[in-house]
Amino acid sequence: YWGNKSLIIVTYLSYILRSSTKNKLLLISFDGFRWDYERHSATPNLDKMTQDGVKAKYVTPPFLTITSPSHFTMLTGRHIENHGVIHNMWFNTTTQEKKQYYSAQFVDSYWDNGSLPIWITAQREGLKAGSLHFPGTAATYEGETVSVRQVESATYDYSNETEWRLNIDKVIGDWFLRQDLDFVSLYFGEPDGAGHKYGPDSPEVWEMIEQVDRTIGYIRDQIEEHGLSERLNVIITSDHGMTKMLREGEVQKIILSKIPGFSFKDIQFQLLDYGPLGMLLPKEGQLEKVYQALKRSHPNLHVYKKEEVPPRLHYSNHPRLLPIILIADAGYAVNGLLPLHYVKGEHGFDNEIMDMKVFFRAVGPDFQKNLLVDPFDLVDVYPLMCHLLGIKPEVHDGHLDKVKDMLVSSTDTRGGNLYFKNIMMIVLTLL
Ligand SMILES: [Zn+2]
Repeated sequence: YWGNKSLIIVTYLSYILRSSTKNKLLLISFDGFRWDYERHSATPNLDKMTQDGVKAKYVTPPFLTITSPSHFTMLTGRHIENHGVIHNMWFNTTTQEKKQYYSAQFVDSYWDNGSLPIWITAQREGLKAGSLHFPGTAATYEGETVSVRQVESATYDYSNETEWRLNIDKVIGDWFLRQDLDFVSLYFGEPDGAGHKYGPDSPEVWEMIEQVDRTIGYIRDQIEEHGLSERLNVIITSDHGMTKMLREGEVQKIILSKIPGFSFKDIQFQLLDYGPLGMLLPKEGQLEKVYQALKRSHPNLHVYKKEEVPPRLHYSNHPRLLPIILIADAGYAVNGLLPLHYVKGEHGFDNEIMDMKVFFRAVGPDFQKNLLVDPFDLVDVYPLMCHLLGIKPEVHDGHLDKVKDMLVSSTDTRGGNLYFKNIMMIVLTLL
């Protein structure tokens, strides 16, 4: 009699400890969603979400403000110099090999170098995690992957709204409801694509914001229809903003080959023609020569020895960073031989530039309603997510204090009350 009963009690106890005190969490990233993008578009669903939840004025992404590094900051709460995914591009300075964003997703050693993404921590604590298209999803961390995952093909169309809806159906209907996952990260590749191609202040971007808005409406409808509204928190944010590139004629472009005293013969390896950041590994004994030639060569180019990069950027202290780091002002790109960079919009700039800041919305049972909160940093989202999931965070650079005010004050007591009620039920069962 007691054997059976204690088994029931233990099962019940572990159930209430795990699931009834903590809600599920969906983290959504819309790539390149600048903090003020909704200004020019009709966004009824974003507006509704603000009424029903929390809006931050803006969020400061980590530097370098580009996709893979910034998303890995969301997943780990670490500055980029601490998590080591320092660029979208993987490279090897000895073999000269480079891998672009997509191929770099599959280089395990690039991602798995000391900082565990939240999926793995959650899984180690007995939760179930999933990820769809989120940067970092394809990699294996200390022998473990996110257990439910979908990685896109190399030719995936990141802006197709029909695809978006299929992905949402999968995450809500299958992963959260049928497979009972606790945490899912979900990635959309827009409005980044439209921002690059047409520039941030273009009708094409405004239209894309309306597509994003419809998508947010669809997500919230699906959550409602599947009866998950009361036990699923949703955070929607982004990795970086977007700024307008300045054109030839308006400004003098930064072209290293045209700088007097600079020669590619002195360079062993370079990462150039990739927007506002350039990195150089000079040949042995040439560092000072290269540095002096570039320093003060262009009014809108900041040239640093790696250890001189301003500490607030947290882009200095990692062995993967090359000895000379070049950072251009907003609107400029760092070109090597020729100005190859012809996009209308770009990111990767200093994270204090307002155009690099990102949007943030959250809604769900643990969030306050109709609340506008002060700006915070993207690193702070990690401790917030760990708190919501009830898991112990790894070492990180965020601050829960900066974001805790957005939660309903009864988060702990509500869980506590429920816990108390359940304990009472067990006592009653025992009697
Ligand atoms: Zn991005």
